[in-house]
Amino acid sequence: VPTIGVLALQGDVREHARALEACGARVVSVRRAAELERVDGLVIPGGESTTMWKLARAFELMEPLRKRVEAGMPAYGSCAGMIMLADRIRDGVEGQETVGGIDMTVRRNAFGRQVDSFEADVHLPGMAGPPDGPFRAVFIRAPWVEAVGDGVEILGRVEGGEGTGRIVAVRQGRLMATAFHPELTGDFRVHRYFADLVRRAMEEE
Ligand code: GLN
Repeated sequence: VPTIGVLALQGDVREHARALEACGARVVSVRRAAELERVDGLVIPGGESTTMWKLARAFELMEPLRKRVEAGMPAYGSCAGMIMLADRIRDGVEGQETVGGIDMTVRRNAFGRQVDSFEADVHLPGMAGPPDGPFRAVFIRAPWVEAVGDGVEILGRVEGGEGTGRIVAVRQGRLMATAFHPELTGDFRVHRYFADLVRRAMEEE
């Protein structure tokens, strides 16, 4: 059984933990470097990326996070977590740093500050159901992916509404990210996909 950590500095940690447990993972909270050492994979939840970055710095987690990602630890970032896994960001605050790992440019609050939150369909053809059909995705002051490098696989785009066509789900090797919040919907396809990725990575080690 894989042990999956949820970075618990800020954001909706409990909802991710529930979704991961439903996918057969053991789940632990990660706030310290020592806790990070013990996980087979890590979820970086949504929240606020500048706050998360400042807390990660205060808890001396930025370097340990970078090291584990570089060493091949599977990680999944949702929303603010997507920003954390991006190699490049737009509209960050002055000096805002990320953990990085995914060769992409992510724009913060991309769908417009007026549009606080909305729902839209996203087709995730690489992710097995149930349920089948499009994923009903919840976006909350969400980023989008503006550009990706050659090694990045596009897993899904927004369909319908103003952001139609924008990339909102990606994967590069053992790293994946979504601009939306799959932990809020009771549809576990994204968490199942990540838990399987962690299991496969463990078999490869
Ligand atoms: N806008 C937030 C940020 O910049 C992300 C929002 C979210 O995670 N729901 O971090």
